[in-house]
Amino acid sequence: HLQTEEEALEPAANDLDTMRNEVLVFNTNCPECNAPASTNMKLVQIPHFKEVIIMATNCDSCGHRTNEVKSGGATEELGTKITLNITDPSDMSRDLLKSETCSILIPELEFELGMAALGGKFTTVEGLLKDIKDLTVAKNPFVCGDSSTADRVQKLNEFGEKIDKVITGEVNVHIILDDPAGNSYLQNVYAPDPDPEMVIEKYTRSFEQNEELGLNDMKTEGYQQES
Ligand SMILES: [Zn+2]
Repeated sequence: HLQTEEEALEPAANDLDTMRNEVLVFNTNCPECNAPASTNMKLVQIPHFKEVIIMATNCDSCGHRTNEVKSGGATEELGTKITLNITDPSDMSRDLLKSETCSILIPELEFELGMAALGGKFTTVEGLLKDIKDLTVAKNPFVCGDSSTADRVQKLNEFGEKIDKVITGEVNVHIILDDPAGNSYLQNVYAPDPDPEMVIEKYTRSFEQNEELGLNDMKTEGYQQES
């Protein structure tokens, strides 16, 4: 079935005033079924944060949808670690920007998702949790009916049920967005006052983190001076 652009960009559409009107449309192929599809590209100003590029592709043939965020390549001076204490079902509707370089941790569920596992997303806390469930339970490559993996399947299903309980507010957890590039954001629903349930830490990246972001290569001039 057909999806409108407004549906694809739902979280951003809440803030129409801050969204630029221009939409770039270009032809691509569906990453799932390879049928011709179109991608809408839009520059969006996220309140109290910055402008990002949102690319939404909807495939008319197979229904596959992607909604990907590009932070425009700029890396912040410091990394950002955002910890949200989920205490209320209303936390699910908080806007959330997860950049391509952001890892996700849910300590109570012993869950960690590396930076490359899920692309850049502009979504909500609920949307991210559903993506996590989809990625780990529904799309998990190890779940394919093999009897030796039954135990693993059981554990994954339990994990999926816990995610559902977090979404319905039955289970409270902390969700941590750790982005060494500093390009991730979680909506402070108390703005401009500080958010009592959210902690934002800025940190200096390690050599390894700079390496992973490809930033060390850009500093070759400095190293050459030392040699
Ligand atoms: Zn398709």
